[in-house]
Formats: sequence, structure tokens, C-alpha cells
Amino acid sequence: MLSNRASALKPSATLAISAKEKELKAKGIDIAGFGAGEPDFDTPDHIKQAAIKAINDNFTRYTPVAGIDPLKDAVIEKFKRDNDLEYKREEVIISCGGKHSLYNLFQAIFQEGDEVIVPAPYWVSYPPMVELAGARPIIIETDERDDYQITAAMLKNAITHKTKGIVLNYPSNPVGSVFSRETLEAVGKLAEEHDFYIISDEIYEKLVYDDYKYISIASLDPSFKERTIICHGVAKTYAMTGWRIGFAAGPVDIIKAMGNIQSQSTSNPASISQMAAVAALNGPQDNIAMMLEAFQARRDFLVKELKSIPGVTCYNPKGAFYVFPNFSSILGKKYKGTTIDTSAKLATMLLEGFHTAVVPGIEFGKEGYLRLSFATSMEVIQKGVDRIKHAVASLE
Ligand SMILES: *Cc1c(COP(=O)(O)O)cnc(C)c1O
Repeated sequence: MLSNRASALKPSATLAISAKEKELKAKGIDIAGFGAGEPDFDTPDHIKQAAIKAINDNFTRYTPVAGIDPLKDAVIEKFKRDNDLEYKREEVIISCGGKHSLYNLFQAIFQEGDEVIVPAPYWVSYPPMVELAGARPIIIETDERDDYQITAAMLKNAITHKTKGIVLNYPSNPVGSVFSRETLEAVGKLAEEHDFYIISDEIYEKLVYDDYKYISIASLDPSFKERTIICHGVAKTYAMTGWRIGFAAGPVDIIKAMGNIQSQSTSNPASISQMAAVAALNGPQDNIAMMLEAFQARRDFLVKELKSIPGVTCYNPKGAFYVFPNFSSILGKKYKGTTIDTSAKLATMLLEGFHTAVVPGIEFGKEGYLRLSFATSMEVIQKGVDRIKHAVASLE
């Protein structure tokens, strides 16, 4: 019999949709896929060459559990360069992906009886990861009309003596919203006052549009930094999702505990991937600008097209590569006799009836919305949007 822990767990909805999308494509069905949670670009050549060199140099054995010093130093340099943050090697850990950093962090600081504040719409994995640590996610709703900000009043409502942490993710998956300096200040002050941790998932830091200038909450005040653990990685910035390298920076005792968990579970991240990540962080950064230019053009097109659908509104993302349009005003209509009254039914209708793969908003804690990734070609976006328009027009 399965453990209670495992039997209560569902697979990640976004990975499940991507798998379904690939399965239908393999059958020869022409799917317009908006499910992808990864850049559609190739890993830049100089990064691949560093990995090939690592193999040829026989850099293929166990490394220190928490990562090699050259990679920790590259991470330290990145925080200094981009965020004006100073960390020592003992305050940095390399993990098998940003997700692995978050998982180990939650295992290290949360337990039974703890509450963890998670603003919605949230990344699908935060609530299950909190629960796997035995703690309880406390969801606070943010809204499109307020630019998806959290306010001090909302936080005060959610904070109890059990509050152990808050999870921030900006630019966010699924919305692409960012927190203003005022919001970050308010969160930091309340975290200080009520003594809880700030988990800042900054994986999309580099993928921002227009003139937005990224602010890491840890950089706003030394006392915020003391209680913040930044989780980050190379996956999204350098199109390296398959290489599995993430990193975290924070207080020594927490980083050490994460290392202990790693030493009793996965051991070190792949030696070859670590060498590739050194090249990614220390090498030329021009691939990011190229990727961003393509993403921005797709974002502009997709948002404009979605907004042109009667009844649909769409927040203009400030970062990441997703849009999160609001379809709630068309829910309740019928398609071939079935009432389409949830985002899940709408997503199923789009996939089965119109061969278009999207993720239902409910998976991110927001009913009535859909998540579409624009990490796909302009042709697919054009085709997919036409199908969505057609689908909406078929509702009665
Ligand atoms: C993609 C993603 C991650 C981490 O991805 P890895 O591939 O594990 O590095 C973390 N947080 C969010 C919000 C993401 O979208």
C-alpha cells in the first residue's frame, strides 16, 4: 500500500499537459501547444562546449555535495553583479534544478504545525511541496485589477503565530506579474515583525520586458536578507531545463541543512552540468537579449489577439513567458451539449475539440483563467489563437 504522503499527491499539472501534448503530436495530430514550461531555444553553444570539455577531461566523478567551488563563485558573482548582494560560499548551494532547491529548502525549514503563505495565482508545485514538508499552505488571492500585488492588509489577515514563511515568485509563473518595491517593503517589514522566512523564487529574473528593472527583496534591507532564501537556476535564463542545475542563497544554517538533505538523498548535481552552468553564468550573456526580443514580440502579438476575443481580458505580463487570460465571462456556455463551466472543461474542450493545449487556471489557484506559454514559435501561436477564437465562437 502507498504511503498517505504519496497517495495524496497528484503529478504536476503543467508537466502532465506537456506530456499529453507530446503524446498527441507523436500520434501525428497537429497540436497547437501552449503547454510548454521551458524556452523553445537551444542551449547556447559555448555552454554545450563546456560540458563536452568536462566529459573529455574526465570531470565525471562525484563532486562536493553542495556543488563545486567554481560554480558557487559564479553564483556569488552573479548576485553581486545583478543584485548588489554579497554571499559567501557557505551561503550558497547548488541543487539539481531550482525545483530541487525549493524542495530541499521546504524540507529544511517547514514541519507539522507550520503555516506558509502562498499568494495565488501560484506556481503549481508550491502547495504540494509545502504539504510534503508537513506544513499547511495558506493561500492569499491576488487580483488582476490590483496588478496582482499583495498588500499589508491582506498579509495581516493571513498571518498567525504559526506562520513560518511566505513564498514570493516574480516575475510569476503563471501571470508574469512582478511585485513593486512598496509591496516588497511591506512583505519584508511584516516578515521581520512576525519573524518568518521569505522564500524568493527568482528563476525568471532575467526574462523581463519593457523597462522593468528587477529588484530582489533581499537587496532592499540587510534585515530582509537575513531572513530571505533566494531560489534560482540556469534553466530558464540559458535554455537549460534538461541540465538540472539550480541554486539557492541564504543564511548559513539553512544552506547547511539543505546540504545535509542533499547528502542523504541525491548527492551532488551532475558534474558535467555544473561545468556547463559555470560557462553559462560567467560567459557571454547575449543569448538572453536574443531570446527576450523573440519573447517580447510573441507576447505583444498574443496579448493583442487574446484581447480581441469578445469577453476575454488579458494582463500584459512584465516577465516570464506566459499569459494568463481571463475567460470567466464566457464560462457557463455550452459546447455540443456540455456546459463549459470550469477552466478544466474549457481546456479539455480546446484540446479535444480544437487540438490546442493550454493549462487550466484552477491548477494555479485561479478559476476562470487559462495559462498559455509563448515559448513556442510565432506560427504555432498564430494557429493556436485562431483555434481559440473559433472555439469561443462555437460556444452557445
Ligand atoms: C521552471 C520553474 C522553476 C525551476 O525550474 P528547474 O527546471 O527545476 O530549475 C522554479 N520556479 C518556477 C516558478 C518555475 O517556473
